[in-house]
Amino acid sequence: MLEIERAEGIYVYTTDGKRYMDLNSGICVSSLGHCHPAVVRAVQGQSAQYMHTMVYGEHVQTPQVALAKLLTDNLPAALNSVYLVNSGSEAVEGAIKLAKRHTGRYEIVAARNAYHGSTQGAESLRSDSALTSAYRPLVPGIRHINYNILDDLQTITQKTAAVILEPVQAEAGVILPDTGYLKTVRQRCDETGAMLIFDEIQTGFGRTGSLFAFEQSGCVPDILTIGKAMGGGMPIAAFISDVDVMQDLSYKPALGHITTFGGHPVTSAAALACLETLLNEKLIERVAVKADLFINRLKHPIIKEVRSAGLMMAIELTKKRYLKYVVQFIIDNGGLVDWFLFNQQAFRLAPPLIITEAQIEEACTLLLAACDHAESI
Ligand code: PMP
Repeated sequence: MLEIERAEGIYVYTTDGKRYMDLNSGICVSSLGHCHPAVVRAVQGQSAQYMHTMVYGEHVQTPQVALAKLLTDNLPAALNSVYLVNSGSEAVEGAIKLAKRHTGRYEIVAARNAYHGSTQGAESLRSDSALTSAYRPLVPGIRHINYNILDDLQTITQKTAAVILEPVQAEAGVILPDTGYLKTVRQRCDETGAMLIFDEIQTGFGRTGSLFAFEQSGCVPDILTIGKAMGGGMPIAAFISDVDVMQDLSYKPALGHITTFGGHPVTSAAALACLETLLNEKLIERVAVKADLFINRLKHPIIKEVRSAGLMMAIELTKKRYLKYVVQFIIDNGGLVDWFLFNQQAFRLAPPLIITEAQIEEACTLLLAACDHAESI
């Protein structure tokens, strides 16, 4: 356990005077690095101006409006209405509610080994009953498919309200969609009238080399969920759809989704500064090149495979038993990497997008030393 004193750029400093290179960005959050000056300025400025004033949209709050405008300016035309919430889990709840309300159906199709959050609805989407049985009864009507398996798409029917997928499966250990898979899912949704939800809470904001991963798939979801890196370190998330769909939450019943702190002015200001910085500093354009530097360097007898969706990477080892030695060695020697929820033979590498070439070289030297160490045990 590390006791944190401060964090800056790609480094986290502990109270015992040590420095750690953050190679997982607090699970894909700190894409701009820690305490980016633009985000800090936005938080300080907005918190001195006003914080909470009112809850259900009675007040126009400029940071919310500016954030929604910049987001939708950078999204396809059909994703033009942003509902700001507090966490990824709440964004998923909102997306599911919206799909149920809009279609009048209740079945939700989700992929096995996906993680969409820990609130009751999002938790119910998990496929592994060992993880959910303590929380029964779960939300009814949830059906699971295997990611990338086309035959399973017959599970999507005229009863399906929504299909929820991560465009790249994160916690399964960075599982990329097969070519054309997401488009085929889109087609099946169109045939059956099911809504397509892409959960980009982990893949969003440049992590995979485009602002959102779905841009690489050639298809657009009906609802997009975002969070994590969105706030530059502050807690904010959203679900986004077409305004005609989103309007369904405003009548029968009115106030179809209520959130006291969703779209808080300070977190919205932070998210606005974060997105402006991401776009202005052209960080996304350099993601693929940086990912290649890692991939080319990370060659070792105990590394079986490096799976990469940009700077979301899984380093798969040849044997499960190596994993704990590799991860512990990295931490002991000043690096932060992390496990996946559903893959016990790989570790996560998801550094801040601001990482430099020299820092990538330093990181790879450490990772390869960790592999040497694990191999020698
Ligand atoms: N969806 C995905 C794909 C996630 O990775 C996560 C968080 N790991 C969530 C949803 C839930 O987000 P939060 O922890 O902010 O509720």
